[in-house]
Amino acid sequence: MTADQLDSRLKSIRDEVLAAIAAGQSTDDLESVRVRFTGQKSELKSIMGELRALVPDEKRRIGQLANEVQQAVENALKARREDLHRVELTKRLQEEQIDVSLPGTGRRLGHIHPLTRILEEIIEIFHGMGFTVVDGPEMETEYYNFDALNTPTDHPARDEQDTFYTNAAAGVLLRSQTSTMQIRAMEKTHPPLRIIAPGRVYRNEEVNARKYPLFHQVEGLLIDRNVTFGQLRGTLEEFYRLLFGRELKTRFRPDFFPFTEPSAEADCQCPFCLGEGCRTCGHRGWLEMLGCGMVDPNVLKSVNIDPTVWSGFAFGMGVERIAMLKYGVNDIRYFYNNDLRFLEQF
Ligand SMILES: [Zn+2]
Repeated sequence: MTADQLDSRLKSIRDEVLAAIAAGQSTDDLESVRVRFTGQKSELKSIMGELRALVPDEKRRIGQLANEVQQAVENALKARREDLHRVELTKRLQEEQIDVSLPGTGRRLGHIHPLTRILEEIIEIFHGMGFTVVDGPEMETEYYNFDALNTPTDHPARDEQDTFYTNAAAGVLLRSQTSTMQIRAMEKTHPPLRIIAPGRVYRNEEVNARKYPLFHQVEGLLIDRNVTFGQLRGTLEEFYRLLFGRELKTRFRPDFFPFTEPSAEADCQCPFCLGEGCRTCGHRGWLEMLGCGMVDPNVLKSVNIDPTVWSGFAFGMGVERIAMLKYGVNDIRYFYNNDLRFLEQF
């Protein structure tokens, strides 16, 4: 090509490439423009090669023009790249923008079931008095549920605690009381000991406002030397005080349990009316809280503990009953219906 041809070719390349750069819509577009027009195999490079054939004056003129084109292309690429980068950034900022003044997305928090809550309270109170929590099987043998607790087969107390027998093996049943844990604990640990055993128990009973075939109990047992009924009283009074948050009187009424002698129902003064009489206490001024007594020597003998050296007290309470009293619930079934209108009140 002649110098004039090269001159006009360079100028048209310049126009073409500047137009292509201006039309580029992304940094990727610009990169392909750069390779096409200024890369090793581009026309611009081959024109540079042809400069050698020109006379010195023309070589200088065309060479200078070629350099100007090269420089113009580089400047245009740089400027367009910056433009595009700014556009892309602005677009991203708009798409990804977060309005920090918007209210957050609330996540509903659940809370523990009222029975679990009261159970945890009871455990914490006795834990503070040095009682250890023990756990045991809900499927039990007649031995642990009745025999070892001084309740032989023909004992009338068995009728009061009709439970569910399984076909796993003869005499295997769902425990009707957590008192089973008295025996299991004394088998494992030699006195002195202080335990509470919270857990589920079962009774074969018709469902009504006061009764449900499944409920929860907390059993307590203390074995030591020279244990007195006064210590039982003191322990329960402290329990009532911490449970209801005030000093309350305790009243014992004689009762019968096969595994304690003497046995009693330990009422506490109604914390809502302080004995005046109200709906919660059925206008009696007292709440029936739990059953208790001094451990029967026969029970100690059944686990080879010498009743002439060791003595103790035991108590057992229904968790649902305590929850009903504390929260003023009048139907045990509410605890199991999973009705949010009820549960959300706690
Ligand atoms: Zn009352």
